[in-house]
Amino acid sequence: MEAEEALKESFRLVGKEFGYDSVNAEFVAFREFKVRWQRSYKWASFKVSDYLMDAPEEVIEALARTLFGKIAGKHDVPYSEEMIAWATSKDFVKYKQPVYLRRSRGITKSPKGEVRDLEESMERLANAGLAEKDPDLVLTWTKEKNIRKVGYCSVLMKVIAISSVFDNGEIPGFVLDYVVYHEYLHASRGMKAFGRAHDLDFREDEIRFPRYKEAEEWLNRLCMYV
Ligand SMILES: [Zn+2]
Repeated sequence: MEAEEALKESFRLVGKEFGYDSVNAEFVAFREFKVRWQRSYKWASFKVSDYLMDAPEEVIEALARTLFGKIAGKHDVPYSEEMIAWATSKDFVKYKQPVYLRRSRGITKSPKGEVRDLEESMERLANAGLAEKDPDLVLTWTKEKNIRKVGYCSVLMKVIAISSVFDNGEIPGFVLDYVVYHEYLHASRGMKAFGRAHDLDFREDEIRFPRYKEAEEWLNRLCMYV
């Protein structure tokens, strides 16, 4: 069966269990891994990230259950184990990360800036015992100098993008290292931290950075936020 037909079928079957007469689902080439939906009382329509196009049937079915559960008002429905296992597999990153990077127009796709090299930051973090080098993790600069947010991390795609504001000799290297460390923590915690990005555990790891306070003061002065 064609992938989209299988998707529709799974969503229809699960939808029926939840009392929906009419269900539609289709794949869409979103940049992010996400699902959008619209619904009325007996009708629901889903736009599902095409990163899921080759997902096994049980993953699609589990996703449908998660989403209909969400719609039914169980707000805390986490991703299913099937989904987490599949989306955190080696193959997932191997095949989806290049697509994600192709769709990401706002990043330079290189760790080397004009002044700073993000790989060097990661090297220092690894040497300090704060990070473990991960060959799948892509470090890149944003093309624009984002002046509010220090950067972002796609946990699933293993991509860390740092604002090119920090590609600047006037901001000390340790401040950049701290920013990379912050995003690295998101990446390394993976999907298990879904929905509680900066919880207590996270903060405890964060303050292991030796010049944490100084780095935070710098960010405050720059009016930039992690
Ligand atoms: Zn953060």
